[in-house]
Amino acid sequence: MTPYTVDTYDLTPDQVNLQRQVHRFAEEVLRPAAAALDPLPPQQVIAPDSRLWDVFKKTYELGYHLRNFPAQFGGAGLSPLEEHIFSEELGWGSAGLAISLGVASMPFAAALASGHPDLIREVAMPFIEDREAKFIGCWCATEPNHGSDSIIYSGKHSRPDIHLDCTARRDGDEWVISGQKSAWVSNGSIATHTLASVSIYPERGMAGNGSCIIPLNAPGVSRGAPTDKLGQRDLNQGEVFFDEVRIPSHYMLYVPDGTPPAREGLAGPNAFMSSTFTGVARAAFDEAFAYAQTRIQGGGPIARHQLVQKRLFDMFAKVEAARGLSRKAVLRLAAGLPTAHYSIAAKVFCTQTALEVASDAVQLHGASGMVKGMTVERLVRDARAALIEDGANEVLSIAGARLLLGE
Ligand SMILES: Cc1cc2nc3c(=O)[nH]c(=O)nc-3n(C[C@H](O)[C@H](O)[C@H](O)COP(=O)(O)OP(=O)(O)OC[C@H]3O[C@@H](n4cnc5c(N)ncnc54)[C@H](O)[C@@H]3O)c2cc1C
Repeated sequence: MTPYTVDTYDLTPDQVNLQRQVHRFAEEVLRPAAAALDPLPPQQVIAPDSRLWDVFKKTYELGYHLRNFPAQFGGAGLSPLEEHIFSEELGWGSAGLAISLGVASMPFAAALASGHPDLIREVAMPFIEDREAKFIGCWCATEPNHGSDSIIYSGKHSRPDIHLDCTARRDGDEWVISGQKSAWVSNGSIATHTLASVSIYPERGMAGNGSCIIPLNAPGVSRGAPTDKLGQRDLNQGEVFFDEVRIPSHYMLYVPDGTPPAREGLAGPNAFMSSTFTGVARAAFDEAFAYAQTRIQGGGPIARHQLVQKRLFDMFAKVEAARGLSRKAVLRLAAGLPTAHYSIAAKVFCTQTALEVASDAVQLHGASGMVKGMTVERLVRDARAALIEDGANEVLSIAGARLLLGE
């Protein structure tokens, strides 16, 4: 196993065990799968014989798909700190697979949180009982014409002329969904259910959005081809189309009541991103740290050269700072405190850190760091995607600044 570069002084023996257990999963299951999936065309990543399905099956077999669920519903009953540990380890194994496994639970967790007995029975329970990865979720938020719009024009900054194109209209006991979600929906080509943002009152702009669960085997649902992209190639993404898709009324989780929605919606996903990409930064540091002690130049290991030492130390400091900020966001979120500004700060900082540390790791590997199949080469591409994923960092920063200013 890879030696730890995580300081465990503040962890209990149980937490250290948890970290080791999830690290083993990351190292033995996620890391090799990521290396195998990365060079494949996107269609092959989701083909029936793809290694992707081994990852999903193993995750569900171990009950890891329920890690954030309450203990009475099969969850591991993890504390916020333990959730952070879990997520950092998965990110260490593979950012793309960590995100894929993370969003896989979103619609089901939302169904459970709704408290609606029918929704829990019909949607949440099958996922909770699933040990074969039969049920996979995705999050349909962005659209071809509305990426950053859904972040920056929410809350008090909503503008009536900027609204989602995917709509929901009430028809008796049902809602009818029409429109298209972007090519960037993670798990979009493989999901069985989605948690979707839909425009119910377009004249209110993004403040007129509702949120619903849509089973993706419903008549009228279709998908685009999986997206071919630079990084996180093991994360399947693709468009989802809704053509007059009908859902029962209790699948609509939120209907806007006229008050602007709070930005706290960003708090959970961004906190999750920050812990995942702390893991990516650490993975890059681990690679560089090990390589620097074995690569001989100038008559000895390159780690003996002062500039290499300084670079390694700066990388170490950045990883530690990323972990500190992301843990703070996760702990505040769990404490029920207003957290979106912390989560945004953590997401922006940790993803930027992951890119910088991965880029430094490539530099320390010299030319061999650019070779396909080298972990650091993949990490730099995976980290690059994260500066746009779950909101472009600049746009998130503007939203975070407005929160700080109390706007
Ligand atoms: C790996 C990955 C996974 C993703 N997963 C999902 C998912 O699961 N579900 C989902 O719905 N979406 C997902 N997305 C989509 C993601 O949320 C969007 O890509 C992101 O919000 C940016 O939107 P956009 O790509 O349309 O860029 P645009 O909004 O077109 O922005 C392009 C550029 O313009 C800048 N810009 C835009 N508007 C403003 C403004 N008002 N002020 C200043 N600058 C601005 C941005 O900073 C950016 O640099 C994912 C994206 C990636 C890369």
